[in-house]
Amino acid sequence: MFSSIIMSCRKAVLPPQVQVSLGTVCSINLFEDGTQELYGEIFSFLKSIDHIFNVNDSGAEIYSVNSYFKTGANSAVEVPELSPVSISPVFHSVLRKALDFAYATDGAFDPSIGPLVKLWGINTESAHIPAQFQIDEILPLVNYRKIRILDSGEGKSLLMAGKMSLDFGGVAKGYAADGIVEILKLRGVKRAIIDLGGNIYAYGKKAPDRDWAVAVRDPQNKDGAPALVISISDATVVTSGDYERYYEKDGRRFGHILDPKSGMPASDGIRSVTVVCRSSMDADLLSTGLFVMGLQGISRIREKVPDMDFDYIIIMNDGKIHASRNLENKLRLLNDTYTIYFN
Ligand code: AMP
Ligand code: MG
Repeated sequence: MFSSIIMSCRKAVLPPQVQVSLGTVCSINLFEDGTQELYGEIFSFLKSIDHIFNVNDSGAEIYSVNSYFKTGANSAVEVPELSPVSISPVFHSVLRKALDFAYATDGAFDPSIGPLVKLWGINTESAHIPAQFQIDEILPLVNYRKIRILDSGEGKSLLMAGKMSLDFGGVAKGYAADGIVEILKLRGVKRAIIDLGGNIYAYGKKAPDRDWAVAVRDPQNKDGAPALVISISDATVVTSGDYERYYEKDGRRFGHILDPKSGMPASDGIRSVTVVCRSSMDADLLSTGLFVMGLQGISRIREKVPDMDFDYIIIMNDGKIHASRNLENKLRLLNDTYTIYFN
């Protein structure tokens, strides 16, 4: 009798759930805590984030912010006579972090990359190589120094030069993954794997005495086989790779991460940058920023943002892998054509 009462109270556990959100495939595995209710809560949270940061959704906050500045002025040179536009607390917190990181990376990461992303047609059917004069025309619009965040007393507002536009494609998934972790903590979930299009959070431990094994893709392998595996618990593993979204012409590959200085896809011999840390938003910023900065970016970031505690794995074109010393006992190489150098 007693056991039948327990049985009837116990909610059905669902298999991992997958939905498209934030412009990518989001897969969530809550294991024994995977109820319909909790999956529902997580996916509606993702939807709410998408509704703020999806640049292609005319109902999204970022879309109306960008439209306001697009139609508001003709001059990109100076902040025009526009009045600031108010922004939501979530929009503000992501913009604040992205802007601080832009200053720390001297603009290698720049949230005002929007006009350049649009020019290259990244994430659209019309991806193409623009003419140099078009890039030259657009470049002055990509300038984080022209973004102002104002405190209006009733909330935050934003001012930037006319025709500038924001793009949080390099940070929004990390923000979302951290938000999901907050939900999991609140609901007392023991373990989970969150995978937002390769932006992974391995929450809790796989088993009391076992870490999760998170695969890092081999950029040379077209079928998506892993190059190595990292053993971790309660950590995020975020990769920016040139195989994620790219445009290929005459055997040349043009990636989706752009160098705001040249206006061209970043390419410093790097195929992928993976960052391992606790905060998925930090990891998302770092992996995109380091992809642009290259290996020498690591010491700069360590110096400029010492509170970002992170490890990295950088896979190069020439078969070298550079990884931080802390990961030495946590990595297992699966493709022995690579050589790992721990720094
Ligand atoms: P991720 O996959 O996290 O490295 O982010 C790549 C996305 O960030 C691109 O699809 C663009 O939307 C955006 N992006 C590209 N280049 C930059 C850059 N230099 N700084 C900030 N965001 C960028
Ligand atoms: Mg990123």
